[in-house]
Amino acid sequence: MTKQADLVIVGNGMAANRLLQDLARQPVKPTSILVIGEEPRRAYNRVLLSPLLSGEMQPVDVELQDARWYREQGIELICADPVEQVDLEHQVLKTRAGVQVHYRQLVFATGSRSNMPPLPGIDLKGVMGFRTWEDVERMQTRAAEGGRAVVVGGGLLGLEAAEGLRKLGMHTTVLQRGDRLLNLQLDNTASVLLQQELEGRGLHILTGARIESIEGCEGRVTAVMLQNGKRLPADLVVVAIGVTPEVRLAREAGLNCNRAIEVDTHMHTSHSGVYALGECCEFERNTYGLVAPIWRQAEVLAGVLCGQDRTYAEEPVATQLKVSGIALFSCGEIDAQDTQPLEYLDLQHGEYRKLWLRNGALVGAVLYGDTRFGPWYFEQLRAKTDLGALRGELLFGPTPTQQVA
Ligand SMILES: Cc1cc2nc3c(=O)[nH]c(=O)nc-3n(C[C@H](O)[C@H](O)[C@H](O)COP(=O)(O)OP(=O)(O)OC[C@H]3O[C@@H](n4cnc5c(N)ncnc54)[C@H](O)[C@@H]3O)c2cc1C
Repeated sequence: MTKQADLVIVGNGMAANRLLQDLARQPVKPTSILVIGEEPRRAYNRVLLSPLLSGEMQPVDVELQDARWYREQGIELICADPVEQVDLEHQVLKTRAGVQVHYRQLVFATGSRSNMPPLPGIDLKGVMGFRTWEDVERMQTRAAEGGRAVVVGGGLLGLEAAEGLRKLGMHTTVLQRGDRLLNLQLDNTASVLLQQELEGRGLHILTGARIESIEGCEGRVTAVMLQNGKRLPADLVVVAIGVTPEVRLAREAGLNCNRAIEVDTHMHTSHSGVYALGECCEFERNTYGLVAPIWRQAEVLAGVLCGQDRTYAEEPVATQLKVSGIALFSCGEIDAQDTQPLEYLDLQHGEYRKLWLRNGALVGAVLYGDTRFGPWYFEQLRAKTDLGALRGELLFGPTPTQQVA
């Protein structure tokens, strides 16, 4: 089958979907849009896969636009059929099912894949990443049989997977290589508070834990072996140790790729008429793992695809962490050097705040428990506001006058 489209988007994840929404608001849009996704369903909110896993949310909460929206927007969608080949010179691509598509403009939005380390036993049945709706379904099916889960990685994704599996009734252990949880986002005190809370709920957490191998029987996982000789029986192993941008297709097509597909300020790749955004792109050596910068990329690219002169620039990103009912906020430099920190700890109410100031300006913040003022701190950090005069009350958020302002 042969098709033709003014704009083709490869990938139907969160970046592609945001781009479509932004394009829908443009006064003059590409004349025809075709989206080709490898997953078997329409776009969904990947961020909500954790509450979907634990049962706190239902499929309907996680789905994004319905089929009617695509129809109304005149967007054609192909699901469950990955693009396997792109011929940049002749502006044509081919999907696995053999659909040939001629395009005028092309966007790569192929996202990332879960990192799977080359460990003995990594290919055993029951060893998996946590990235897609299918991953959630596989975990839920396994959890329905009970048993033991080992989650490799004490970062955001690992903790969410672990909490989900624990809530589904699995005896769950988290293996963290470093000496504390969420070491990229939290300082030591916040990490300790988080660990105590999670352990109190029944999660088992091993820090300084390094995997030696994964054991199996008849092709199915049975245990995880640690370098210190400890053996952890396991019916399910979820690996959450980061992601790798999905750039195979772009690289094979001949686009300049480093860690990901290189783009300029217009989200333009090394080939004319070809763009990239989201976790598959790299801008000024940065790659992405949170939606905030991707939303700004989508807005810029929607304008560019419609002929506007829009440019993308890097901005600081705040992390609103959601570990199953525990509110955490973090932004800027954590444990920053040459600073004058401010700290508040209320163990009884499980509240902790730490702010790092350099020459009167906020350069980093960690909030645990009450995160209401996170966005305000982040605004002060971005604006480099001189907060020296407010030092005395800064830990308690903006003063009433500032709140009104
Ligand atoms: C469980 C979970 C929780 C998260 N929580 C947060 C959070 O709280 N806050 C936050 O900011 N971020 C969060 N993230 C990260 C966020 O989901 C990603 O940053 C975002 O999804 C990236 O969007 P993307 O479109 O670049 O990639 P994706 O959403 O992964 O979409 C890429 C799509 O491209 C498809 N694809 C790949 N190759 C091809 C091909 N050849 N042909 C066709 N299709 C292809 C893939 O199948 C996929 O559907 C979370 C991620 C996960 C997995």
